[in-house]
Amino acid sequence: MPDTNDEARPTSDVQPRPTAGAVGSPATPYASAIPERTGVAEFFAPVAGFGVSLSNFFKPTVTEQYPREPANVKPRFHGRHQLNRYPDGLEKCIGCELCAWACPADAIYVEAADNTPDEQFSPGERYGRVYQINYLRCILCGLCIEACPTRALTMTNDFELAGPTRSGLIWEKQDLLGPLSEGMLAPPHPMVEGTTDTEYYRGEVTTSTDSQRDWVREHRPDDASLLGGPGLATAIPIGETRAAQQKITAAARREGGAR
Ligand code: SF4
Ligand code: SF4
Repeated sequence: MPDTNDEARPTSDVQPRPTAGAVGSPATPYASAIPERTGVAEFFAPVAGFGVSLSNFFKPTVTEQYPREPANVKPRFHGRHQLNRYPDGLEKCIGCELCAWACPADAIYVEAADNTPDEQFSPGERYGRVYQINYLRCILCGLCIEACPTRALTMTNDFELAGPTRSGLIWEKQDLLGPLSEGMLAPPHPMVEGTTDTEYYRGEVTTSTDSQRDWVREHRPDDASLLGGPGLATAIPIGETRAAQQKITAAARREGGAR
């Protein structure tokens, strides 16, 4: 069918139609970018691939003895998540839900609540009251940790996330919270006196203070985190799911012949 617009266009804009034989034919002959081998290289070319195998004959054998021994993963391996704390023990999570919105697998559930003078869990107004990650859904992609504005959520090297029940793979906040380390006090407790959440975000809070210790001593005189030292690691009981996971891992090690 003739192009009815041909008359309206300037003649210089009209491209000649390709002939039937010219359609799809290359403008120039194909030329490989890989230089051709000649001489000795050409002679050994058919067996060159064996060089890779031969070079590995002289390297030490790497066989992971997992689960008998813990497997070594790369330092930047993305495994189980962790909810982090500030150096005085307050939680970094502010319950903003950005991680949940970023998650492509809909694996995170967050419910926020208001901090109060008697129940201050994080700097500022809000904290994550409920925090769950469903490891039946999680694909360990790391988008959630990129979305977190306070670096509350990071990922550890721990990949042991097996379990005998579906509900056992939903990790709660208590399972995900990082342990207390030296200088930290178990929350809730007030923020460092004279600071706002800005000082916390800027890293200007480096440890707990005497007035925070006095507050905890007054409200929870038996709190193990007041003692500091090695007991800090056990000052907050780990969650049920994490405890169950540790049992499963220990059993797998035993069955694998752990020494
Ligand atoms: S790692 Fe990916 S899939 Fe898992 S909770 Fe984070 S965003 Fe969701
Ligand atoms: S972990 Fe980070 S992104 Fe998720 S709710 Fe807490 S502060 Fe917000």
